[in-house]
Amino acid sequence: MIRTGIGYDVHRLVEGRLLVLGGVEIPHARGLEGHSDADVLCHAIADAVLGAVGEPDIGHFFPPGDETIRGISSLEILRVVAGVVRGKGGVLHNVDATLVAERPKILPHVPLMKERIGEALGLPADRVGVKATTNERMGFPGREEGMCAMAVACVDVP
Ligand code: MG
Repeated sequence: MIRTGIGYDVHRLVEGRLLVLGGVEIPHARGLEGHSDADVLCHAIADAVLGAVGEPDIGHFFPPGDETIRGISSLEILRVVAGVVRGKGGVLHNVDATLVAERPKILPHVPLMKERIGEALGLPADRVGVKATTNERMGFPGREEGMCAMAVACVDVP
């Protein structure tokens, strides 16, 4: 049976943090705040994949209070999530995600993001969609208070 999942995540932009999006470090004056590397794009994808197989969200698998996973790469989170799908006999077909961020320019980094996300999930890069849009200077992404991302995933589950 083909099943889909949806994911959404948001993180604040703060001083003194690296900006990591789609598993790629991107030069920027500020980064996203969080217990992990705060890779908002990977988190949305992880929740989409988990949703497609009826599992709880990533907070269940990676509790924010767990000191052993502080600073964890979100690519590792994607690896675990892909393992959950395989454990249920599922086959992940594709994921697609959109990042909402006013700055910096994301497009130059997209090929590497697709490659790294694909590697973590066991997907070829052409089955990983990564797009970005600004929020036209409106709301929290527009004021650069944070970034958000949404994603969908398609999984074949026996
Ligand atoms: Mg998150």
